[in-house]
Amino acid sequence: MALRNDCFALPSGVVWTPVAEALADLRARLSPVTGVETVDLYAADGRVLARDVASPVSLPPADNAAVDGYALAHASLSPEGEQRLAVLPGRSAAGAPYPDAVGPGAAVRILTGAVMPTGTDSVVMDEDVDPGDGAIRFGSGLKPGANRRRAGEDIRAGDVALRAGTRLGPAQVARLASVGIARVAVRTPLRVAVLSTGDELAEPGDALAPGHVYDANRAMLLSLARSQGVAVLDRGRIPDDPQAVSRALREAAGDADAVVVSGGASGGDEDHVARELSRMGAMALWRIAMKPGRPLALGQIDGVPVFGLPGNPVAAFVCFLIFVRPALHALAGADWPEPAGYPLTARFSARKKPGRSEFLRGLADGAGGVGKFRSDGSGLVGGLIWSDGLIALEHGRGAVEEGETVRFLPYAGFGLR
Ligand code: AMP
Ligand code: MG
Repeated sequence: MALRNDCFALPSGVVWTPVAEALADLRARLSPVTGVETVDLYAADGRVLARDVASPVSLPPADNAAVDGYALAHASLSPEGEQRLAVLPGRSAAGAPYPDAVGPGAAVRILTGAVMPTGTDSVVMDEDVDPGDGAIRFGSGLKPGANRRRAGEDIRAGDVALRAGTRLGPAQVARLASVGIARVAVRTPLRVAVLSTGDELAEPGDALAPGHVYDANRAMLLSLARSQGVAVLDRGRIPDDPQAVSRALREAAGDADAVVVSGGASGGDEDHVARELSRMGAMALWRIAMKPGRPLALGQIDGVPVFGLPGNPVAAFVCFLIFVRPALHALAGADWPEPAGYPLTARFSARKKPGRSEFLRGLADGAGGVGKFRSDGSGLVGGLIWSDGLIALEHGRGAVEEGETVRFLPYAGFGLR
């Protein structure tokens, strides 16, 4: 399903869009573009659930023992003093329930996970019991329902086990398996094409001519995209030539569900991505009030969204995490991801004016504090290596003094290694 052609049109009159507003706009305008297929449970890891899954069973299916011990009726116990109950022959084991009812004054051997025999409601654990011949003795104070797991306490038959849009990880496949789901409807993987633009870009492994730099963004953006569970297409490096750029973008859009391109996104002489996108159709240069990140070019070619990121590697990295990542999730049919963050104490001071969001490279010190990289330079890949997350300074915030609280977004919370 293609997106509406004006899906990236900007609200008129807005000059610098706050990050939160730009994200809310993206969220409102993007919808899933992927198909649906049914896959085996064991092949579903990492995929996005296409439909709600209701549980066909209750879990546990029946009341059962949480420990090894003796099942009994709590009503058989006296309020005080030593308890003595006759032990019936036989036992209830996991997978092999006790076939008969247990009457008052009696107990039966039970093992962890075994169904509670009819007539019993509590389990006295082995460690608390004095076993004798044909009887057990133990102290008073066993609570009604002790060491019993209730039927349906994990999930009830008919309840939603997992919602559409959930990305399946270890806990989610365990949930599906636990309720007996063998095949699930998932989204087909989103195909994301990645390309770099710039006459100055050289391929790693090639000799570096004067004035050239190696293409760092393509490897980085391919890795970033893969980390979000999408299928990537590497569409290489494109020179700063209008025809080459428009052809490459058109081809990428023909083969993928979304295109991520770095470089040439602002309004300069050689910024062909922005110009060619606007020539080809709906395109909006989002002047987003954030640092790092010069204008983000959002366009569409035949309904396929194109994300034009700044060329500076750190700016491209941050723009990907903040804007492209949630957009890809929405296109893939997954829930809109909010970055996972928490407050830490700034071990630095930083100048800032209210009116834009800033994302600094931060390193948590493991003692409640966070430091920032020595430089804000958005071309320094070293800052990405040094840091383990972003320090997010809110739109309205002014300067940061050492000791103040700042919000830290660990890279792991974005799904990065
Ligand atoms: P641009 O956004 O094209 O004006 O590029 C801004 C800066 O980022 C310039 O210094 C470029 O050389 C650099 N740059 C652009 N693309 C890449 C890339 N793929 N890898 C590394 N640096 C890049
Ligand atoms: Mg360039």
